Amino acid sequence: MPQFLSTRDADFDRAFTALLGMKREDSPDVDAAVAAIIADVRDRGDAAVIELTSRFDRLDLTPETMAFSAEEIAAEIAKVPAEDRAALELAAERIRAYHARQMPEDASWTDAAGATLGWRWTPVSAAGLYVPGGLASYPSSVLMNAIPAKVAGVERLAIACPTPGGTVNPLVLLAASLSGVDVVYRIGGAQAIAALAYGTQTVAPVDKITGPGNAFVAAAKRRVFGKVGIDMIAGPSEILVIADADNDPDWIALDLLSQAEHDESAQSILITTDAAFGQAVAEAVTARLRTLERRAIAARSWEDFGAIIVARDLSEAAALSNRVAPEHLELCVADPDALAARITHAGAIFLGAWTPEAIGDYVGGPNHVLPTARSARFSSGLSVMDFLKRTTLARMTPEALAAIGPAAERLAISESLEAHGLSVRARLDRLNRSAG
Ligand code: NAD
Repeated sequence: MPQFLSTRDADFDRAFTALLGMKREDSPDVDAAVAAIIADVRDRGDAAVIELTSRFDRLDLTPETMAFSAEEIAAEIAKVPAEDRAALELAAERIRAYHARQMPEDASWTDAAGATLGWRWTPVSAAGLYVPGGLASYPSSVLMNAIPAKVAGVERLAIACPTPGGTVNPLVLLAASLSGVDVVYRIGGAQAIAALAYGTQTVAPVDKITGPGNAFVAAAKRRVFGKVGIDMIAGPSEILVIADADNDPDWIALDLLSQAEHDESAQSILITTDAAFGQAVAEAVTARLRTLERRAIAARSWEDFGAIIVARDLSEAAALSNRVAPEHLELCVADPDALAARITHAGAIFLGAWTPEAIGDYVGGPNHVLPTARSARFSSGLSVMDFLKRTTLARMTPEALAAIGPAAERLAISESLEAHGLSVRARLDRLNRSAG
């Protein structure tokens, strides 16, 4: 059974703190193996990648077959049923439209001293997207990673996707093609991350690597960070639902299970103001768990990490939710906007009972790559910003330099950086000479 807590319980705070502190991820220590793989790929390039792919994915590649050819992609895409294609196209269009609105503006202004200041945004030149192999490969994740990159203006976008035994999900290739991906490599694991970061004879290096993966992929991303940018290291998924009694318990149960079915370590929490409603949702979850296809996974997650919390009122519910800082937050209440105004930490908010979180996973438009493990306290989901850099701009006129230069000179002297001070002084002296 999941935990059933009430904020009226004497030991609620201890129990809630324990819930927040639960260690859900059992990440095996694979760092030594990953370090060796990265060193090997840096050393021997293609030869290492080919050997490791044969060992781990049972696939024999040559430099020529490392990437899918245009003909191979077309043949795989042709296998996709028309309904799946239409759904993926709708998702791609909506994700593109949403992310286009995220594009930040350049800025430029002249301040009181006469200095013209500003910034401008430019995309990274090349990005690499890791797409996990096997059952865990989600076409929707391809769209969510690749489309923001292309909207940001990334010129070259490469996918690395292991194809164990040579099998690939045709929908992954269709999603890649709809998103404007330039090349799809049949490589995976730490060797793929190393190849994307450092380059090989066949794989051109990129500037930023995004996308989920197993412990080997995560450890490799941590190790290449600095050589390239990375997005985040995503943990197991989470949902928190705040629901009043005026909801269908079955809907809420399904929303909780939609995260629980991802992973045994996923976490689903309901906060409600009505204990009887909480009980009804618990029963609905149990009923659904009898037939759900992924019931083994969902039941483990719900029993080990699930919780139903009864709060005194919605304001208390919001405060608890802010302490959780959930990846996904559903507000199934009469006035979701008023409640959302009280939420300060959440990856994504879904407003009202007609907005199941699953809409956000696929077709809503916002990104589904979101901060987990309470990191919504300080970070945001994937966006076009992850593929952009901001360059600052400053232009002094002689008058502006005369106005603010002496303070710079003073600070340079105080920091014992003589050339700094002199570079300002030389110009100020020239100004003084021409004035005199
Ligand atoms: P994967 O592509 O992440 O990993 C496969 C690769 O792991 C192989 O190609 C191999 O190179 C490497 N590997 C496996 N065993 C190894 C070993 N002993 N030594 C060195 N390398 C080894 O695919 P996966 O394993 O199916 O894992 C998918 C992961 O992605 C899961 O952890 C899943 O939870 C996660 N995922 C997360 C999201 C998300 O949005 N957060 C989405 C999809 C998948």
